[in-house]
Amino acid sequence: MSEDREKNGDEGTSKTTPESPENSEKDDGYEKVCFMCRRPESKAGKMISLPGGINICTECMQKSFDTMNNSNMNYSDMLNNMPNISMVDLSSLQNQVPKRQRVKKKEEKPETKKEFSMKDIPPPHIIKSRLDEYVIGQEHAKKVMAVAVYNHYKRVFAPSGDDVEIQKSNMLMIGPTGSGKTYLVQTLARLLDVPLAITDATSLTEAGYIGDDIESVVSKLLAAADNDVERAEHGIIFIDEIDKIAKKKNTNQRDVSGEAVQQGMLKLLEGSDIEVPVGANSKNAMVPLTTVNTKNILFICGGAFPDLPDIIKERLNRQASIGFQADLRDKYDQDKDILSKVTLEDLRVFGMVPEFLGRLPIVFTLQPLTEDMLVQILREPKNAILKQYKRLLELDEVKLEFEDDALRAIARKALEKDTGARALRAIIEDFMLDIMYEIPKDDSIGEVLITREYVEHTGGPKILLRGQEIPLLGGEN
Ligand code: ADP
Repeated sequence: MSEDREKNGDEGTSKTTPESPENSEKDDGYEKVCFMCRRPESKAGKMISLPGGINICTECMQKSFDTMNNSNMNYSDMLNNMPNISMVDLSSLQNQVPKRQRVKKKEEKPETKKEFSMKDIPPPHIIKSRLDEYVIGQEHAKKVMAVAVYNHYKRVFAPSGDDVEIQKSNMLMIGPTGSGKTYLVQTLARLLDVPLAITDATSLTEAGYIGDDIESVVSKLLAAADNDVERAEHGIIFIDEIDKIAKKKNTNQRDVSGEAVQQGMLKLLEGSDIEVPVGANSKNAMVPLTTVNTKNILFICGGAFPDLPDIIKERLNRQASIGFQADLRDKYDQDKDILSKVTLEDLRVFGMVPEFLGRLPIVFTLQPLTEDMLVQILREPKNAILKQYKRLLELDEVKLEFEDDALRAIARKALEKDTGARALRAIIEDFMLDIMYEIPKDDSIGEVLITREYVEHTGGPKILLRGQEIPLLGGEN
């Protein structure tokens, strides 16, 4: 309705002068300004319109009345007796309020909120192929996640009143540090365009203790959704380092950051109404609260579970030692992918509470990254580190290449650090700093080739000047 009016007002301005009587009634997109105190309507409040396009705010009007009432003066006598002063004829002021003195109203943008629906969720094979563009290896994890996410949103959009109730597809991801757990979830949330909150389970404590309340994860998600409750309610919450809230063994203190947190998370994982402050970072104690229902929020928990391989081995060896499988004993000691044989029982032994595990029905593992995978991570993903460096030097019209051996040397160095792909960036930044510093100094440099010797600090890179033949390069990096 008001929009219509505004539109008509705009049309009116084009046909008539802003001060013409017909226009003064219409909304021409400008705010009224008080003739006396000069404040616009948004500051001074409702205006009283007088003939001639003059507006006076109620405050000024009131002040004028008060002044008149408080004195016994006869104003017309006074004015008539004073030289050079005459009664102001309001209509003579008609054209005295120039347009530029008026305050343009803030344009209200029409809300173009797109309704989120199943149409926004691609089928599992497309989700997987989009993940492939960024995440190297982890084929099983990508497949499980693609299906679980697809099913999750099917459940969210399923017509209510169905007699079959689909279980929530909350996930538990087990994988070594730096193998891509967080990265997978981030990529997933980005490609689905849903809000994502990432929290560290170590910071969570039972309500009332020092640390973050469990419910704070929901306010983080609300903040990630720009305080749009509806968007937050179909978002993703990733809780990292979930293994750190395992039940503490042999402790007689109250376990406020372990088992109690698992217990406290049960309702959240399953779905309940949570009261959260709007604008989580606001320092104002008077922040309004809103209610977010977690029923359709997808929870993904991730952790490295460091002692888990031993627990699995112990179980497998125990089973193998019974009966005719005795010859298989100890064969698991060398198994690199032992994590994939995890069972719920192993996780229970590790210290996860059965009820908690029951609310994370999808359990899958990630593989430790190999040297080959690390080399691929360096050069293949859409935003691969090497591609980024190449692009940076390309802007200086310098070609950057890496010898295959150099990439392997970087991968080997990263493996030694035992922090997965996380180590790669630090290693590269270490030796690229000099290149990025020195190259722009010299305009004649046309190409830089990073050698294995340079990575291992036993030699330098190969530098080619512009116009020189390129004898060294071969193979694509
Ligand atoms: P974590 O498993 O400990 O959560 P991250 O997902 O944070 O590890 O990985 C750290 C970084 O390493 C990521 O930001 C990403 O750049 C890179 N990375 C890790 N694994 C992969 C992978 N499989 N493919 C591509 N990049 C990866």
